[in-house]
Amino acid sequence: MHQDFLPPGIAVLTGAGISKESGIDTFRDDGGLWTRVNLEEVATVDAWFRDKKKVLDFYNETRRAFRAAHITPNEAHEALARLEREYEGEVTIITQNIDPLHEMAGSRKVIHMHGRDGEVRCMVCKTEFASDADLTPESVCPNCRSIGELRPNIVWFGEMPIHLDEIYEVLERCGLFIAIGTSGEVYPAAGFVLHVRRYRPRAHTIELNLEPTDNKALFHEHIYGPATKVVPPYVTRILKQGWR
Ligand code: NAD
Repeated sequence: MHQDFLPPGIAVLTGAGISKESGIDTFRDDGGLWTRVNLEEVATVDAWFRDKKKVLDFYNETRRAFRAAHITPNEAHEALARLEREYEGEVTIITQNIDPLHEMAGSRKVIHMHGRDGEVRCMVCKTEFASDADLTPESVCPNCRSIGELRPNIVWFGEMPIHLDEIYEVLERCGLFIAIGTSGEVYPAAGFVLHVRRYRPRAHTIELNLEPTDNKALFHEHIYGPATKVVPPYVTRILKQGWR
C-alpha cells in the first residue's frame, strides 16, 4: 500500500504492569521492587557516584535472578506483536520496561525509553554494548580502557529517558494512543497522553490497567483488568472494527 494511504499509526506505551503476569515485579504495587529496596541507594546517579559497588552488585544480582527465572512473554505481549503483524498502518511500542519481553513475543518496532537489560554503557566514551557479564568498580571499558566507568545501560531516576525525539515523532503522527500497565506517575511518560491530545486532537486515547490511574481523566476510554485478560480481546476488537 502507498505510504499516503496507510491508516493512522498506533502508539502503545507499556509499563511494568504488562510484564507483571510474566513474573516481573512492578515498582509501586504492594510487594513491588521499590517497597523492598531503597531506590536512592541503587537506582540514581547520586548512588552511582557514592557507592559504585553497591549499585553494580544490585544489578548483577537482579540480572542473574531474572535469567534464572526463564521469564517468557505473556498473552498481552503476544497480542501486541499480533497487532503489529496484522494492522496495515504503523504500530510502535514505547516501553518503560527494560525487559526484552516485547521482542521475545515478536514485536519489531520497540523503543526502550529507559534502556535495556543485558546492555552496558561506558560513562566516559558512551559506548553501548550487549553484555551479561557482572560489572565491578574494576571493570575496564573495551573501547576507551577507562576503569570503573561501565554501568548498566538503564536510565536511573534523575536521568533523562532516551530516544525522546523519536518518541514524540511517533506520538505526533498517531491516531490511537494505548497505555498499558503504567501508573501514570513517572514523567515524561505520564505526559505522553496529553502530548497526543494536544498534537493529535482527533486521536483516540485509551488506558488498559489493573486499576484506574492518576491519569485516568486524560483518556477517552478505559478498560480495567489484568493485562493478559484485557489486552488480547482489545487487540482483536480494533483489528476487526477499529477503535471508534
Ligand atoms: P509502576 O510500577 O509504577 O506501575 C505499574 C502499573 O501497572 C500500576 O498502575 C498497576 O496498577 C499496573 N498493573 C499491575 N499489575 C498489572 C497487570 N497484571 N495488568 C495490568 N496492569 C497491571 O510501573 P511503571 O509506570 O511502568 O513505572 C515506571 C518504572 O518502572 C519505569 O521506569 C519502568 O522501567 C520500571 N520498571 C520496569 C520493569 C520491567 O522492565 N519489567 C519492572 C519494574 C519497574
